[in-house]
Amino acid sequence: MVEPVGVGYRSRGAPPTGWPANIQRDRYLTEDWTDMNDVSNSTLPRMRTLRTIGALRTALLHPRGDGRRIGLVPTMGALHEGHVVLVRRARASCDVVVVTLFVNPTQFGEASDLRAYPRDEERDELVAERAGADLLFAPEPDEIYPPGFATTVRVGGVSGPLEGASRGAAHFDGVATIVAKLLNIVQPDVAYFGQKDAQQVAVIRRLARDLDIPVEIEACPTVRDPDGLALSSRNARLRGDQRGRALALPRALDAARGAVRTGERDGAAITAAARRAMRDAGVEPEYLELVSPDTFIPVRCVDGEPVLVAVAARVGDVRLIDNELLNPTEPATGSL
Ligand code: AMP
Repeated sequence: MVEPVGVGYRSRGAPPTGWPANIQRDRYLTEDWTDMNDVSNSTLPRMRTLRTIGALRTALLHPRGDGRRIGLVPTMGALHEGHVVLVRRARASCDVVVVTLFVNPTQFGEASDLRAYPRDEERDELVAERAGADLLFAPEPDEIYPPGFATTVRVGGVSGPLEGASRGAAHFDGVATIVAKLLNIVQPDVAYFGQKDAQQVAVIRRLARDLDIPVEIEACPTVRDPDGLALSSRNARLRGDQRGRALALPRALDAARGAVRTGERDGAAITAAARRAMRDAGVEPEYLELVSPDTFIPVRCVDGEPVLVAVAARVGDVRLIDNELLNPTEPATGSL
């Protein structure tokens, strides 16, 4: 017999309160810390952190039965404003917002990268609650991959180039498998992902279509620091002049956009302009390519259809990725 456990879900469209309007990235790490721990005066229902699939399913039983719209925001934690925007987007159009916090070991190629991945669950709980989450699902690895786990979901085609080629097929196998599991566990109406990981969005859209998973996949625009660097949990590992050199990535995207804006349509010329911008900043790209945003098939000529320029590079031992949608008919770029 399943005990009904209520979720303090909010009515659709209710904005989260208590979140500084123009939040600075580190504010909730420093001076707001005490304030953010004090939720005693909050008018919001408290977010609940759940560790097991059973507890999460139980918590969602009644909202789902009542026809509530459920939104899912999968994350690996170390939450920053890029994640916050996804949660707020979910809050604005869903009745129940589930944020998942799971550093998925199977999508990391290098053990050192997995070890170095920043973890601070206490802070993540605070940020997720303030952003408007109702439930934080933070399972242990054994809950997700119990002994005997033997299934891998592989998405063909779109997962092959760029990130797939650089990080190896196991990366998107790991992503597809964990996202398929989370979609099955939560069964959301909508799942929110960042355009920052554009290829991941394309892989997940393909996955949902191919496996007939009844979910809407929503991609949200990349959140950047004022100087253009895309927010990433990995940015915290940039040391000394590496933070400045990391600007090579957004500068390359700017150069590509600038070339298209001035009428350049030849893919090789556009990527050459972007590569020059990176070289000037002292960074060598791991890849820098123009591709179709849906299939990730290389594009040789920017002609009519929007094209994605995608880049990856190592700055020191920190691997960064970024991308931008180039729209030849509309020089200002948009989101996916
Ligand atoms: P992660 O915790 O890195 O797995 O990211 C969780 C989700 O947040 C993914 O859908 C990412 O694409 C998204 N995300 C990460 N960084 C950003 C950003 N700067 N802007 C928008 N979304 C982001």
